[in-house]
Amino acid sequence: MAKKSISDIEVSGRKVLMRVDFNVPLDSDCAITDDRRIRGAIPSIRSVIDRGGQLILCSHLGQPKEGEDPSRYSLRPAAVRLAELLEQPVAFAEDTIGADAEVNVSALTDGAVVLLENLRFNPGEKKGDAEFSARLAAFADIYCNDAFGTCHRSHASMVGVPAAMEGKPRVVGFLVQKEIQYLSDAIASPRRPFVAILGGKKVSDKIRVIENLLGICDKVLIGGAMAYTFALAKGGQVGSSMVEPDRVELAKKLIASGGDKLVLPVDTHCGDDFSSDCNKQVVAAGEIPDGFEGFDIGPETARKYAEMVSTAGTVVWNGPMGVFEMSPFDEGTRAVAQAIADSSATSIIGGGDSAAAIQQLGFADQVTHVSTGGGASLSMLEGQVFPAVELLDEA
Ligand code: AMP
Repeated sequence: MAKKSISDIEVSGRKVLMRVDFNVPLDSDCAITDDRRIRGAIPSIRSVIDRGGQLILCSHLGQPKEGEDPSRYSLRPAAVRLAELLEQPVAFAEDTIGADAEVNVSALTDGAVVLLENLRFNPGEKKGDAEFSARLAAFADIYCNDAFGTCHRSHASMVGVPAAMEGKPRVVGFLVQKEIQYLSDAIASPRRPFVAILGGKKVSDKIRVIENLLGICDKVLIGGAMAYTFALAKGGQVGSSMVEPDRVELAKKLIASGGDKLVLPVDTHCGDDFSSDCNKQVVAAGEIPDGFEGFDIGPETARKYAEMVSTAGTVVWNGPMGVFEMSPFDEGTRAVAQAIADSSATSIIGGGDSAAAIQQLGFADQVTHVSTGGGASLSMLEGQVFPAVELLDEA
């Protein structure tokens, strides 16, 4: 499902409305603490302005809760940062579809940029409101989606606007193009063996990912706290580990349907307190004593998983193998990350905690793709089809 990208479109002298993800973290003084999301959009932005396009950027940045000061959620700091990165002025519109946006959009010249105020200041954005979508759509000749983190949402700027621009070019930016290439296309036609490694807290969060990947992978390796719900399903002892008793039946079904594709840990690194200096022991899976809690896969499981990764053609990883934030329970996650970094497989790291873990462990530049989208990347691994991407032009 390759999509036409911004570089396939003639943009000179034309207005391009680009949905970006400038949802950056701010400190208490509204200073940006991490500008990676803005930097990430620069290639798509450059592709428009360097070719004489007139660029209208729109994004959300959190959402003010009732009674909160909305100015804390303004995108103005992002406009200032973008201007520094581009080394050119970036106009800022104090509203999204109001008078200031209209003035700024009409004043655009070739190669110039305006950033509109936070889309979510308008209730129509999250509701996917048709009137709000039509007003935004009317600003531009071309629509570009470069906001992967929001692609699983059907908000106005994601679906309503491109729907309202039918007949005009509607394309992906480079970030979204790359995410689709790896999270969708590479998974649809993987180099085999195709190994998925799934960890994290809850089976309930990952059921659909496990089900979808069991249908297309050769092996699905389970780690993290969700392994203990599977251990319970097999009649094991889990001590005081984090489990979901109401998912035990589901885990039994997954074990039955997965057969030998579904691989569970053979040992567990556990401790008697949620702290680095607790009393620790390594036990066989399903034999966690009372008073102890599983915090990581054990060394034998780590070795086994690393071996399976080393012979894989494609690896997808989502969710840490243990409490990777707390040494020494980062060892299982580290071993898996190291194996992925060392392997010649196409390696795809889902967003969220596994992306954070691969960065924290220093392997991010040794893998093929680290997804930038948490929820969106999980939804794509579930095999979901996103309307926000579907309705864009085919390549
Ligand atoms: P998730 O958001 O579902 O991917 O889960 C990530 C979180 O799961 C991380 O914060 C880990 O610390 C946590 N986690 C992984 N394994 C365990 C475990 N055995 N016990 C408690 N928390 C865990």
